[in-house]
Amino acid sequence: MTAYVFNPTPTVAVPVVGRSECFPVHRIYCVGRNYAEHAQEMGHSGREPPFFFMKPADAVLVVDAGLTVALPYPSLTHNLHHEIELVVAIGEGTSDGQAIPVEQALSYVFGYAVGLDMTRRDLQNEMKQQGRPWCIGKGFDHSAPIGPISPAAAVPDLMHAEISLMVNGKLRQQSQISQLIWNVAETIAQLSNAWTLQPGDLIYTGTPAGVAAVASGDTLEGSISGLTPIALQVQ
Ligand code: MN
Repeated sequence: MTAYVFNPTPTVAVPVVGRSECFPVHRIYCVGRNYAEHAQEMGHSGREPPFFFMKPADAVLVVDAGLTVALPYPSLTHNLHHEIELVVAIGEGTSDGQAIPVEQALSYVFGYAVGLDMTRRDLQNEMKQQGRPWCIGKGFDHSAPIGPISPAAAVPDLMHAEISLMVNGKLRQQSQISQLIWNVAETIAQLSNAWTLQPGDLIYTGTPAGVAAVASGDTLEGSISGLTPIALQVQ
């Protein structure tokens, strides 16, 4: 057994609907501009190839069912944006260096959850302008709220689900999962060309139009039909 110079950080764990065991998080991948109307609001258009960025696994903020969880307002920003997203949770069966074909991709999905890709938009825009990495805009602490994961078999109709986000009771984002430019299977296939997907990986699949800023005291309620909704309050 390996001895460590200090205790390793515990594995990040997300609850699973109907199970006592949790989902252990390995990596967090995110897809950029994956709904046409959002791509347009960010100044782009069309079906450009999907692009990816990452958040650290411990950016996860677990949002338990039925609770309103505190979302700390992060440092350095004056423009904290919400991005409601479908999250895909990868299960067992992938192997080293394996490129996954689109036709087989869904068989590697353990389940799905509602998530938020919180973004320090001012810092992201600054980095974009300077051609620098987005990490400081996207990968900060608590930047990846996620609700309980529903096993895939429990949500057979997910590809026709509605996705929405309310802020202080008012609708801010609303679309259908069917509007994804790169659907779940295509996204998995594309990702697997670049990285070996592994059990415990989470994929934030992109956000529909309507991204905007939140302030301290705001309440966010995210939902995707068939999945456990999430609620947070910005601190
Ligand atoms: Mn996003």
